[in-house]
Amino acid sequence: MDTKGSTDTVAPEVSTSANIDVVNPITLEKLYEIEETAQGGVDQVYRNAREIQPKIGAMRVAERVAEVLKLRDYIIENREELITKVIMETGKSRVDAFTSEIFEICDVIHVFAHKAEKLLRDQKVTTPIVLMGKKSKIIYQPLGIILVIPPWNYPLYQGLIPSILAFLAGNAVIVKPSEATPLKGVFEEMFEKSGFIKNAVQIVYGTGITGQRLIDSRPDKIHFTGSCATGRKVMAHAAQYLIPVDLELGGKDPSIVFDDINLERTVNGVMWGGFTTSGQACTSIERLYVQEGVYDEFVEMIVDKTRKLRPSHANRVIEDPEDCDVGCITTAFQVHIIESHLKDAVDKGATILCGGSREGDSRHFPPTIVIGVDHTMKIMTEETFGPVLPIMKFKTEAEAIELGNDSVYGLSASVWSRDLRRCDRVARALVTGNVSINNHMLTEGNPHLPFGGVKESGFGRFKGDVGLLAFSNSKSILIDKQSKLIEPHWYPFTATKYQMLGDIVTSFFSKKKNWIKFAVTGLKLDTIGNKEKLK
Ligand code: NAD
Repeated sequence: MDTKGSTDTVAPEVSTSANIDVVNPITLEKLYEIEETAQGGVDQVYRNAREIQPKIGAMRVAERVAEVLKLRDYIIENREELITKVIMETGKSRVDAFTSEIFEICDVIHVFAHKAEKLLRDQKVTTPIVLMGKKSKIIYQPLGIILVIPPWNYPLYQGLIPSILAFLAGNAVIVKPSEATPLKGVFEEMFEKSGFIKNAVQIVYGTGITGQRLIDSRPDKIHFTGSCATGRKVMAHAAQYLIPVDLELGGKDPSIVFDDINLERTVNGVMWGGFTTSGQACTSIERLYVQEGVYDEFVEMIVDKTRKLRPSHANRVIEDPEDCDVGCITTAFQVHIIESHLKDAVDKGATILCGGSREGDSRHFPPTIVIGVDHTMKIMTEETFGPVLPIMKFKTEAEAIELGNDSVYGLSASVWSRDLRRCDRVARALVTGNVSINNHMLTEGNPHLPFGGVKESGFGRFKGDVGLLAFSNSKSILIDKQSKLIEPHWYPFTATKYQMLGDIVTSFFSKKKNWIKFAVTGLKLDTIGNKEKLK
């Protein structure tokens, strides 16, 4: 099977205009404008960050946790207003906005408020016997200033959660929200009204131009979430200064359904996995593979249920959680990508069973099911990022794995079967960063699990223990005593020392160990440095 190089063209061209319109995708009304942040503004933000960071670094972790809990309390108290603001800019359904932004934020804060202190504590580690008499530990120190660059699809969550983890690790944070969904003023109001430490997390508005200025000001690390196309640019830019980057990029997640499933549950789960946030989630189902024994029944049921979903529409009452199930498409360029993928599929012989076209020039795209698809089509190879489920039939487990892995992406996947051993086999065989079994996207629901991709879906891990430590300098410390001892591997280099070091290797490390020789040589080596020292 031909695995093509990514032709990801999702990233919009960086705008050169000074003002950027922020539009409500439901009504297409202009909400407000943001401006590119000039160099002077960027410089000021970095000065503030450099001033506050040593203070954050000097705080006890428990004190940082207390600051973060102020944010949690503010979010819980003001959640309805926050959700409304998110919907105004993203067009999500209210329940999607609640679960993927508010609930997830509270969940991650809850978990890390409990585990941050333990994770960031000095950690004693074993010192090998060949270094007898010494001690070793790892201490976790802040990196300095973390630049967070989020995408437009989860503006609150993607802006806040990396910032909170970076702050817990003692860093100052600068966030440049997406120009498509900047949530202007929302974070600032949250920090001010909650009493969160001033300037610990600062917000800078603008497009990629501002993003580039922020990189040129040399943060100590970049946490980037977005498309592969922009990820490449950010990495190339950061490479000039050797700034480390974590890249959370796009995906083309497969979902594999075997024929021994509970049909009703699996159809419901897959439908949610494909249409949540209108498919504008990096880990929503982008390719669905259904085993031949259940294929016909599965397709019939999913089409029937999809037709019953309430799609987005221009007169939505966004305060009503029952007004729509599937929200609208946030950006105009994304609508064009969805349409071009569908056209390419139909031109090559695919059939649209429901949905497939939007209302006029609106961004209300109904949930869509396509069959008769294959891997020559964009809809099965490039990130569609819309409420579209293309379904393909497969026969065997081996074929499902081969199809699942036939992608340049490797973000996430799901496997559905009553046979958990088979699910485990398939989960291991899929080349991805995450797999949910008999569910979809749920690895992301557990903040104890690290999240991230392989292949062109990026690298680095976010959340989980490693995700917090990713914002730390894991500094290794080895402690020796002040004694008279001159180490045998120090100068002068002599033939006797060389011989003895060789004896240690053969007596201790080789397959045939000789403990007596090792002990005797070790004792001699302890004193030889003093006997053969430089005079
Ligand atoms: P994007 O790559 O267009 O933009 C992401 C961010 O990068 C924006 O804030 C943008 O202003 C900024 N940017 C653009 N050019 C830049 C440059 N040269 N230097 C610095 N910053 C620059 O992505 P998007 O369209 O906002 O988001 C959608 C993409 O994000 C999809 O591909 C989706 O799969 C991906 N995504 C991934 C994850 C994940 O965790 N893996 C999560 C959510 C979304």
